[in-house]
Amino acid sequence: MLYDETKNNIEKCSRCALCVQNCPIYEIKKDENNTSRGLICKLSGYFEGRLSDKEIKHGLKICLNCSKCRTNCPSGVDTSYVFAFKNAQLSPSKISQRLLLAFKLLPIKFLYFFNFFKKRPSKIKSNIVYFKGCVARAQHKITFLDKICSTPEFLCCGLPYLTSGDLKNYNKVKERNINLIKSASKVVFDCASCKSAILDYPELNEKDKDKLIFFSELTDKKYKLKNNSKYKTITFHKPCHMTKSDFREIEKFLNNIEGIKYIPLEDCEKCCGFGGSYFMFHPVISSLIAFKKANDIKKTNADLILTACPSCTMGLRFGELISRQFKKTLELRDFIETELETL
Ligand code: SF4
Ligand code: SF4
Repeated sequence: MLYDETKNNIEKCSRCALCVQNCPIYEIKKDENNTSRGLICKLSGYFEGRLSDKEIKHGLKICLNCSKCRTNCPSGVDTSYVFAFKNAQLSPSKISQRLLLAFKLLPIKFLYFFNFFKKRPSKIKSNIVYFKGCVARAQHKITFLDKICSTPEFLCCGLPYLTSGDLKNYNKVKERNINLIKSASKVVFDCASCKSAILDYPELNEKDKDKLIFFSELTDKKYKLKNNSKYKTITFHKPCHMTKSDFREIEKFLNNIEGIKYIPLEDCEKCCGFGGSYFMFHPVISSLIAFKKANDIKKTNADLILTACPSCTMGLRFGELISRQFKKTLELRDFIETELETL
């Protein structure tokens, strides 16, 4: 199936280069070998028997998995198949896949270990499920969503397996998540990347996709800033994987908070450069992108930066640190919990 889907998507490509223009890596490296069009051209040669495994292996080594190429493609090329094919078919061995995965998950394991003795949330029975991402889980963070939804023990969207080429475990995780979605009335997310990874499951039908909501859709309450909050202005970084409709909802929500001004961030879709574990593998590229992002944020003059993905939160904090701006960055969920109250 992966072979056929990859071939179909490669055939759809008109080589127009819009993906190249929007690729954050190309912006830094100016090398088409590290763009999706570059990989598509190579894979096309591979399918026609002109290029070998070895020649393909070195294409797109430093991709951020930001999906900008997919969202900006006018021909509807789903580059996730192209990347998955490269990762799964052409990675050197199962041992390397496992090692890569273990390395990627190392920060999560550390977080889990250091927060092991923190209090766990009490169990709520509800058919509204909170898909608590791996970072919030590893931090043993109790959020307001734990108090109104049921939170299953361990959930993974599968993205780390997919990007390491471990399709066997990816398919296992996917199957479990699909069953979970089928048995729930709604599945609530606070991380845009987890939601996007699950929306990408080709086996998920439209009815089940409609059950996946971002947590801001769960409430129609009106909020105001707490009297003791020190913030006056906020801005929002849109995670690469956040859908346009979720972003519109969030902007509406932020504009309606009493007592604080929302300042839209120019080029809010530009990647923060962190890319989950990407920073560990490519610290220089990651830092250059993070630095640019921090400078864009500086132009807003906002006191507080919000986002909705733990990886972006780390990336934005890192960008602030290296550009010596020291602004506060919070996840939207935590901002609501600590700085707002209902009207
Ligand atoms: S934007 Fe789409 S059609 Fe254009 S080169 Fe990239 S993948 Fe191909
Ligand atoms: S996923 Fe992002 S970094 Fe990777 S090729 Fe596409 S646009 Fe470039």
